[in-house]
Amino acid sequence: MTTDVHQLDDGAWISVNDERRISVSDLWPLARQNVCDCETADFLVEGFAEVGVDHPEIQARVAGRCITCGTEGVTDWVTVGRVIDPETGEFSPVDPQGVRVPDRRHRLSRPE
Ligand SMILES: [Zn+2]
Repeated sequence: MTTDVHQLDDGAWISVNDERRISVSDLWPLARQNVCDCETADFLVEGFAEVGVDHPEIQARVAGRCITCGTEGVTDWVTVGRVIDPETGEFSPVDPQGVRVPDRRHRLSRPE
């Protein structure tokens, strides 16, 4: 079974295997990110610019802004969750409180 990942509603949601799993409007702490100079940005997630699969991880480039300094932008690739069981498509989101580190590289192309 392949993992099917899409943006829905103009990037407001990420669906994994046709289930809405990740939504905007969360605050994600991002370290070593490319949008602003804050050491750890409190990044308000306003949309998902691109989504992709890098098995077993689901990744996205996230549009939003750092609420500490107000800079807006789109991040590099951030892991938003992972597929635990490729057979059933069972998905586990990343802990929203955990600090994430965006990665400029994305090893696989986007699904579309
Ligand atoms: Zn900032």
